[in-house]
Amino acid sequence: MIVVMEKNASDGEIELVQERLRRENFQIHLSQGVERTIIGAVGDRSRVDLEFLEALPGVEKVVPIMKPFKLTSREFREEDTVVPVGDTCIGSGALQIIAGPCAVESREKYLEIAAMVKERGATMLRGGAFKPRTSPYSFQGLEEEGLKILAEARELTGLPVVTEVMDQRSVDLVARYADVLQIGARNMQNFFLLREVGMVKKPVVLKRGPSATLEEWIMAAEYVVSGGNPNVIMCERGIRTFETYTRNTLDLSSVPVVKRLTHLPVIVDPSHGTGKWRLVEPMARAAVAVGCDGVMIEVHQNPAEALSDGPQSLTPENFAGLVNNLTRFQENGRS
Ligand code: PEP
Ligand code: MN
Repeated sequence: MIVVMEKNASDGEIELVQERLRRENFQIHLSQGVERTIIGAVGDRSRVDLEFLEALPGVEKVVPIMKPFKLTSREFREEDTVVPVGDTCIGSGALQIIAGPCAVESREKYLEIAAMVKERGATMLRGGAFKPRTSPYSFQGLEEEGLKILAEARELTGLPVVTEVMDQRSVDLVARYADVLQIGARNMQNFFLLREVGMVKKPVVLKRGPSATLEEWIMAAEYVVSGGNPNVIMCERGIRTFETYTRNTLDLSSVPVVKRLTHLPVIVDPSHGTGKWRLVEPMARAAVAVGCDGVMIEVHQNPAEALSDGPQSLTPENFAGLVNNLTRFQENGRS
């Protein structure tokens, strides 16, 4: 439930409500807006008498949240969450373009592609150091060496880096090097991992599981937020359907839905969402049209030689075209 305090509620009145809720084992999340304070309380609602709570001094109203997700819901927080990342942020209205290869393959290649995507308009870098591969015989990533290369690329380009963390054990390690931790689609319901990233101070990109409903995906975000990390960025990357022409079916309806149900920013990954480089740009434009806060694009110097996901990777030239078209498309949309 949320307890909306009156505009002129005193600190003592706010404390009294919190104290009453804590006594009944509610988890408290305070949101101090410019206008008024809102107290989010998660716990067993049968333990408090809502009328009693509403009668406390300084309380304007008590609103029960009926949805299974609480802290991530629009009811809990009306304003959009803006996630700070390095010197920039996601969710403030400016489109973020996160680009780079699927995996960090070598220092030389990564530093080169990082500079290339920056020059062509990327605002953040991506690249996997730990790769979740379907086959145990495929390239698994450079691990800590890859993280060091990502950190070096950040130094050279000034762009923040997003990279995947695959298990609980490596959360501290990845958080030492990365600006944003990515939870991969296959790990969306790894609840121990979600709890662990809930405890770190770095923002989290939470990819939608290949067969996750929107509610399951939002509940995964609820794990991270309720663990103490409010900076979650939702990433639509396609789901598994009966269609086989594309690698996944990019469910763009999730963008407006998740934005309506939650206050979290939503980005779209048309690379994994389609699996085909020719479809990446049109689907990126569609993602912008439905209101996403950013796109994540795989780019490789030589997609034919990529160690992973070459067929869905753009060349630097095609990436430059995508950035130009997205920018033009956005400007036309506004006029
Ligand atoms: C990735 O972004 O590198 C990745 C593996 O994506 P997903 O988890 O969406 O498959
Ligand atoms: Mn990939």
